[in-house]
Amino acid sequence: MSGKLTVVGFGPGSKGDMTLRAVEAIETADIVTGYTTYVKILKEFFPDKNYKATGMMKEIDRCRMAIEDAMAGNKVAMVSSGDSGIYGMTGLIYELAFDMKADIEIESVPGVTAASSAASVLGAPLMHDVALISLSDLMTPIEKIMKRVELAGEADFVIALYNPKSHGRTEYLGRAADLLLKCRSPDTPVGIVRDIGRKDQTMTITTLGKLKEAEVDMLCTVVIGNSQTYAKDGLMITPRGYVAKYLE
Ligand code: SAH
Repeated sequence: MSGKLTVVGFGPGSKGDMTLRAVEAIETADIVTGYTTYVKILKEFFPDKNYKATGMMKEIDRCRMAIEDAMAGNKVAMVSSGDSGIYGMTGLIYELAFDMKADIEIESVPGVTAASSAASVLGAPLMHDVALISLSDLMTPIEKIMKRVELAGEADFVIALYNPKSHGRTEYLGRAADLLLKCRSPDTPVGIVRDIGRKDQTMTITTLGKLKEAEVDMLCTVVIGNSQTYAKDGLMITPRGYVAKYLE
């Protein structure tokens, strides 16, 4: 008898930011599978579940294991932070399931992605068109990433940077800032939110000109404003245009 695999995005890390669907998928699962750090977070909220955790760089093994557990008849919840379809595991699960000809039901449960949760801490920076860009070059050549940064800058998108900096990749954020400074003012507001939804959450609003000196690591999401974004009273706002159109 084949089981079911639910790919669950559980949001930034607080229980309040999980959707009811995510909570239900975890509560009803026989096995909850995920990256060690995520499993640690979920154990706090769902201590009695049967967890299977694997470390970083074990994505394929972890997904294959989850598919095999579902093929054996289990209800499996495969968990990722944020939205599991955004730099998460949903795509890999479908690709592997096709490859393994797995006769299982797969459901994808969307979650609150880091750009949204960061935006809610910063004010309202994503009110206009936004580009999500990951600066991790593990899966994408860095030149392609930088091209995307450059073109998103030229097109005046608000930009949310995921995986902005790691121990091994310290210079990409500075390169991205230099590219954006070619077409955007150094005063452009930049919001940096770290550890969203968790007890150590912090937020800083700086500028594009000062981004290189800012403290940023992999636990941060960096939101770069467009040409209209302004900072006021410790918040970052991108006007959609209502005030200009109706109130002035
Ligand atoms: N699937 C996730 C993204 C995974 S990529 C999502 O939709 O949010 C990992 C990157 O996401 C991190 O490097 C960071 O940039 C961002 N991120 C994820 N959780 C975060 C959190 N709680 N606080 C700040 N940034 C976070």
